[in-house]
Amino acid sequence: MAIERTLSIIKPDATRRNLTGKINAKFEDAGLRIVAQKRIHLSPAQAGQFYAVHAERPFYGELVEFMASEPVVVQVLEGEDAIAKNREVMGATNPANADAGTIRKEFALSVGENSVHGSDAPETAKEEIAFFFSGLELVG
Ligand code: ADP
Ligand code: MG
Repeated sequence: MAIERTLSIIKPDATRRNLTGKINAKFEDAGLRIVAQKRIHLSPAQAGQFYAVHAERPFYGELVEFMASEPVVVQVLEGEDAIAKNREVMGATNPANADAGTIRKEFALSVGENSVHGSDAPETAKEEIAFFFSGLELVG
């Protein structure tokens, strides 16, 4: 297994409920290292650009509005097989289908307000990290 990096976002439903630390503990307990992190408030245009891949989906407008509604914490997680491992720790998109112990099972409010984002493949991880972080901000 290779050491990978993946882009994670703690979404507005979770920052609003002061869950950043509890969610970060889940990552660290799983062996993922938070190598970069910042709290930002996305504009609707920035949220729309980040989720452009979903532009044709019926929930796109709702998703963009939600992601721009309140601050988010964007972060880079590093570790062995980090992309898949993070997806495991996150749990299924819909919390009703998420396994016990996952972030979404414990914290998500709904399929839309589901507390975390995680990259889904090496190419998207690279693009999504570059969307939020410069090389200078990635100290490892
Ligand atoms: P994931 O975040 O698990 O990779 P997707 O990439 O399919 O899931 O969807 C991106 C985000 O869009 C989800 O995390 C969720 O916030 C939102 N979303 C997905 N499906 C729905 C839906 N049916 N209704 C409302 N929001 C949704
Ligand atoms: Mg996705």
